[in-house]
Amino acid sequence: MAVRYLSTRDARATPETQRFEDVLLAGLAADGGLYVPDRLPHLDRTALAAHAALPYPALAAQIVGLFAGDAFPPGALLDAAQAAYRGFRHAAVSPLVQIDQRLWLLELFHGPTLAFKDLALQLVGQLFDRVLSRKAERVTIIGATSGDTGSAALAACSGREAVDIFILYPHNRISEVQRRQMTTVAAANAHAIAIDGTFDDCQDLVKALFADAQLCGALNLAAVNSINWARIAAQTVYYFAAAAALGGPGRPVSFSVPTGNFGNVYAGHIARRMGLSVERLVIGTNRNDILARYIASGDMSIAPVEPSLSPSMDIQVSSNFERLLFELKDRNGAAVADAIAAFRRSGALPRAEREWRAARGLFSAHRIDDTQTMDIIARTYARSGMLIDPHTAVAVGAAEAELADGGGAPMVALACAHPAKFPDAVERATGVRPALPAALADLFERRERITVLPNDKAVVARYVRDHARRGGRTG
Ligand SMILES: *Cc1c(COP(=O)(O)O)cnc(C)c1O
Repeated sequence: MAVRYLSTRDARATPETQRFEDVLLAGLAADGGLYVPDRLPHLDRTALAAHAALPYPALAAQIVGLFAGDAFPPGALLDAAQAAYRGFRHAAVSPLVQIDQRLWLLELFHGPTLAFKDLALQLVGQLFDRVLSRKAERVTIIGATSGDTGSAALAACSGREAVDIFILYPHNRISEVQRRQMTTVAAANAHAIAIDGTFDDCQDLVKALFADAQLCGALNLAAVNSINWARIAAQTVYYFAAAAALGGPGRPVSFSVPTGNFGNVYAGHIARRMGLSVERLVIGTNRNDILARYIASGDMSIAPVEPSLSPSMDIQVSSNFERLLFELKDRNGAAVADAIAAFRRSGALPRAEREWRAARGLFSAHRIDDTQTMDIIARTYARSGMLIDPHTAVAVGAAEAELADGGGAPMVALACAHPAKFPDAVERATGVRPALPAALADLFERRERITVLPNDKAVVARYVRDHARRGGRTG
């Protein structure tokens, strides 16, 4: 029987379930909850051992296929995965590099926008197109970005037949590399819009556009967000690939993950629950350390977001944590809804001793501040000759702290961004300015299309209406 999906906040005795293709297009559930599978597929040792021989796209098709049920005809997932990963700059897609006796880097930055989000979004873009064309539908995706997600989403959707995409970013408030990655996308269906305002203004505009029923209906609005289950499924794949490359299933492996919205490390947890032999899962945070504080003390309370050297982790509320909470609360949707409501009201999750102890059994966590981050970038360069970005440095720092604590398994730190994406910090730490990969070397010469709009919902709505090809049903 195919896997079905339910909302983490569904309070009914028999929750309503959805199919993979519905969850793919919906993102968030109608009750505000996140979709989770009604049960997890399990991989036995024979299946895990076979992973070592599979090219990455074949592995991705196999794993995502376990979650997709009959959403795609035979062969379609493999086609989609091959198309998704064809543009990656490394044949292994997610290669491992050893940097110390027991420490490896899993390089997740060989995709078009130089960050790990490409691994999931490139595949999700392909899946969107295939599901929509079968249903003869089109969608208009609208999103806000503070940097990485927007460029990865634009790259994944550019040129897709059934999708138009509009990404709002704060004018003059993102890095030049991040801006150019969005404004140099040439496809007619992909639009980056600079808003005269902050990231919060961009997010509020997106919410206001979604609240406009007329616009929603006319353009079939859809969201890109980090809570889509298909993204989680696609992110489990590189955990399986890395473990197989390091001798799994006979040899357990540990992973250290630089964490913001909790999507990446949660995918590692799902891979473990599907049968992968994982010794430890380590959460690395920067000074925005709500998750590290929770694991240390059981207290999950919001503090103001502070800017750091690893901006993609400057987050206080980790949206995917709700999925873990659902599990910790024995899949009781009513209890999750109550806890989240209390969290929103008071800024603190109600303390629950038993759940905290369970969470501590699943994850360890370390906080790495900016000073330590700079030191780790410098030390890694000195001893291995490798330049690492600040997010990767947080993973390496958390990995080292964990290794000092014992544990015998090889430790894999997830390298989530290319150093050239954050060149200033890397240069300050090492004296070396990291070069962009050859395929992007001309990024600073490419023609930019810059559109600046005021922080005004009516103006943005008109722009989207004028530039979207067409929403709703085709044919
Ligand atoms: C998005 C991102 C993260 C955080 O990942 P989550 O899944 O949100 O925890 C870390 N590093 C980089 C470079 C990112 O782009």
